[in-house]
Amino acid sequence: MLAQPIYLDYNSTTPVDERVLEAMLPYFTQKFGNPASTTHLFGFQAKEAVELGRERVASLIGTGREQVIFTSGATESINIALKGIAERYAVKGNHIITCKTEHKAVLDTCHVLEQRGCAVSYLDVNREGIIDLTKLEEAITDKTILVCIMYANNETGVVQDISGIGSICRKRGVLFMTDATQALGKMRVDVDEDNIDILCASAHKMYGPKGTGILYLRRRDPRVSLPAMVHGGGHENNIRSGTLNVPGIVGFGKAAEIANLEMWDDAARMSRLRTILEQHLTESGHAFINGSVRNRLPNTTNISFTGIKSETLIRKARNIAVSTGSACTSAIMQPSHVLSSMGVDEQHAYASIRFSLGRFTTEEEIRKTIETFLEVMNYQ
Ligand SMILES: *Cc1c(COP(=O)(O)O)cnc(C)c1O
Repeated sequence: MLAQPIYLDYNSTTPVDERVLEAMLPYFTQKFGNPASTTHLFGFQAKEAVELGRERVASLIGTGREQVIFTSGATESINIALKGIAERYAVKGNHIITCKTEHKAVLDTCHVLEQRGCAVSYLDVNREGIIDLTKLEEAITDKTILVCIMYANNETGVVQDISGIGSICRKRGVLFMTDATQALGKMRVDVDEDNIDILCASAHKMYGPKGTGILYLRRRDPRVSLPAMVHGGGHENNIRSGTLNVPGIVGFGKAAEIANLEMWDDAARMSRLRTILEQHLTESGHAFINGSVRNRLPNTTNISFTGIKSETLIRKARNIAVSTGSACTSAIMQPSHVLSSMGVDEQHAYASIRFSLGRFTTEEEIRKTIETFLEVMNYQ
């Protein structure tokens, strides 16, 4: 029988925590009501559960529940926010600033907005994967309506200077949006302290279920206003209509509650294991870490291997579930746009592996991973 591979791809998705699943189950069967039903107990129960979930997720980003709406995930939140801002603020301007290492959900949506008449500036990052705040400030014009910079990168774990970006945006009177999908549940996120006006995230990257996300919109100073993007009944502050995914929201809430309590212990354990992994893989001198090692998530490491073909790497390390630095976005293989933007040459971008650890990663799994990769490195 084929053994289950070792899962080190938590940045792609995470298993649902058992405690989250347990909290969700009643909302499929006994407590199945529609939260929009205002005339009976089934509806009240569901509504109460949704509002508790909203409260818990809001608390994880340091805000109140009236500023959070639920969506199907970060991709939808990003689409609603970018397209909605471009439409609603068109009277003020058409310029958006983002960066080259964003997730495709942001980049592809920005490309669509360009076709619709927006001007988008894609900021460079340095070798560490970090944007230059002076360049950011210089890019702002009187036509700029939005700065959209991700909190933490999904491929490298590199964390931007979010509070620095927030201050600049506040000072210049431009809205600041951040894709916090990788940061949420792994590190402190506080929308008020960092002057974040719009924030997007998904439950399934933090041990909640797939298909549930949030969109945080600041209500005051400044108030972020968005047009309805999905019509049909006026749910979720009249921005995103449709019957809510009650079990998903309950699960997201439970996952947020757990993260609030356990995030720091998880972070310490994961970063200890990551250090062991990095030390063993890089000590030969034939592998190096991509991106800043100071400003990054506690669970992620992106390592390039020298003198090794990507195909060999992938084939030989089949029993370890990781991501590679190339993507089949079309029929042809392409090196990761994140690593290329950081100045990693094509060969090392292809021969790179993202290891992302999680709550359930064990030391034994890390030892086996080290063994496997050292073997692959010695094999050639
Ligand atoms: C996973 C991810 C997304 C997209 O999330 P979905 O749940 O697939 O919509 C967006 N941004 C980042 C940084 C991600 O890691």
